[in-house]
Amino acid sequence: MSDATKMTGGCMCGAVRYETTGDSFGVNHCHCESCRKHNGAAVVTLAGFKADQVVFSGDKRKIYESSPGVGRAFCGKCGTPLTWEGDGGDLGPIFELHISTFDKPGLLVPTAHAFYPERIPWFDIADNLPRYKGFADDKPPLQQGPVSDGLPSA
Ligand SMILES: [Zn+2]
Ligand SMILES: [Zn+2]
Repeated sequence: MSDATKMTGGCMCGAVRYETTGDSFGVNHCHCESCRKHNGAAVVTLAGFKADQVVFSGDKRKIYESSPGVGRAFCGKCGTPLTWEGDGGDLGPIFELHISTFDKPGLLVPTAHAFYPERIPWFDIADNLPRYKGFADDKPPLQQGPVSDGLPSA
């Protein structure tokens, strides 16, 4: 693969770095409570890669096992949440990298909302992406944007 397919990222302090090769298999917003807890965020955007597409360097990332077989990694120095990692089913082992840890997150464009019903109620969404009850590959989506759940109609 050419270097054009490589992307880099890392934690806030720079101790943990990573490089990805090739395309992400999926970039999604996740509204699930576990992702929100791990990141301290209202919504978390993740870019998925097969494990062999990701190489870490620098400090070894710390891993919190949030459920059996599921790791949520972070930097032991600055605490930046870095990944959801575990079994990706047909994809084998995967890393879901938190988008804001990429050096150029704008290159990765989300295509769906996962776990839409778990979102914080005041979090209204006005984009055109499909919203799924669970993982973004569940079919069909609950609804397609833009749909307002509470905003005054235009
Ligand atoms: Zn760090
Ligand atoms: Zn999630």
